[in-house]
Amino acid sequence: MAQMLEGKTALILGVANRWSLAYAIARAFVREDANVILTYQGDRQKQTVEELAAELKVHQVLPCDVTQDAQVDALASRLKDQGTVLNAVVHGIAFANREDLSRAFVETSRSGFALAQDVSVYSLVAVARATAPLMAARDHNGNPGGGSLTTLTYLGSTRVVENYNVMGVAKAALEASVRYLAADLGPSNIRVNAISAGAVKTTSARGIRDFSKMLEGGAKMAPLRRNTDPAEVADTAVFLASDLGRGVTGNVIYVDAGAHIMGFALPASTS
Ligand code: NAD
Repeated sequence: MAQMLEGKTALILGVANRWSLAYAIARAFVREDANVILTYQGDRQKQTVEELAAELKVHQVLPCDVTQDAQVDALASRLKDQGTVLNAVVHGIAFANREDLSRAFVETSRSGFALAQDVSVYSLVAVARATAPLMAARDHNGNPGGGSLTTLTYLGSTRVVENYNVMGVAKAALEASVRYLAADLGPSNIRVNAISAGAVKTTSARGIRDFSKMLEGGAKMAPLRRNTDPAEVADTAVFLASDLGRGVTGNVIYVDAGAHIMGFALPASTS
């Protein structure tokens, strides 16, 4: 049986280690026969990402620090020069200073706010601009161009989640960017969506104060009474990148065991 991403090429940004949501997505894309290209943030990550790529039998790993326009442009030029036609791009990147994820939001500094927006939000715009021409091109078989750009967000964009703070504001801007990008790129048949994942223990998540309590609380209140499995997020990313997702753009799709629908739980009865 044909796999869901057979014949498609995907660029996946945001693998730092095997706990990264982008790594789960890369695994699922490889399982579905996509030709995957990974990026790494800097020399410190290069070896780890190359080792993971080798395990996954991914043959191309390229540098891309999204705060450096030159690196984003160099990535796109390299792909263009080697004749790569992209069908999917996954953006699994975010960053905020640890202190801004552990004290009152009102204490956020101007520079901390700007940093979170730059890395976690503007990078999606920069990546979209750089990669859209590679998706819009006709493929080698002459099929019409188009593609899918998917990013990762969290419920803290629309609800106050303790300690998520500046990242919640960044995710609100990210989700708005998804809608504006979807409107801009739709005429080129490029779809732009976000997956709102439930809490998963990753390196970034550990930077949020009391993250283990977020996990515990999430599992208790979610309709499915459990946390989110990264493989569930990855399978939704497969769907969005596949032809099955062809009518879906500008959306935030929740993959969080249903946690986002809940209001508040009543305290346990004492009688
Ligand atoms: P992670 O730490 O594994 O991934 C974050 C990635 O961002 C890393 O690969 C890091 O190298 C990259 N990054 C940071 N600054 C960068 C830069 N300047 N240039 C290039 N790359 C840079 O953590 P994760 O939890 O897998 O995060 C992936 C995405 O998922 C993030 O957008 C995060 O907000 C989102 N998300 C995570 C959770 C969760 O609970 N873990 C829930 C919902 C959404």
